[in-house]
Amino acid sequence: MSQPASVGLAARAATGERKGRVDYLVGNELPARPAVCTRCRRRLNEVVYEVRSQEGRRARCLRCAVTYRPVMATSLGIALIVGTILTAINQGQLIVGGEFPMALAWKIPLTYAVPYCVATTGAILNARTKTANSGGKGGQR
Ligand SMILES: [Zn+2]
Repeated sequence: MSQPASVGLAARAATGERKGRVDYLVGNELPARPAVCTRCRRRLNEVVYEVRSQEGRRARCLRCAVTYRPVMATSLGIALIVGTILTAINQGQLIVGGEFPMALAWKIPLTYAVPYCVATTGAILNARTKTANSGGKGGQR
């Protein structure tokens, strides 16, 4: 028999754990207040993007998370694979046939850019969390 939901909520509230909010800064090596980007030292008000490095998890602002090299490298690899497959599917006949209409000059780069953006967006949304000092409700996770 499972315990009532209210008991679980009370236990989580007592430990500081709340749904929709990650208090990862508490008990971690990062300062609880104020939360700052570990790269550019910009103050992070509510949203933090956690990136994993050799030193552990690091808080980043959106700009620093998007330009984080491992994220960019992974997205680039995905873009190369998916973009090549999509280009072959959509434009392969033209390319193999020796034709190269000028429209391909923008279609092919876009075919690579879309999976790059999708992979980066997925990584960023997955890394998104809240700071311990953020109030309010909702948000990711
Ligand atoms: Zn930053």
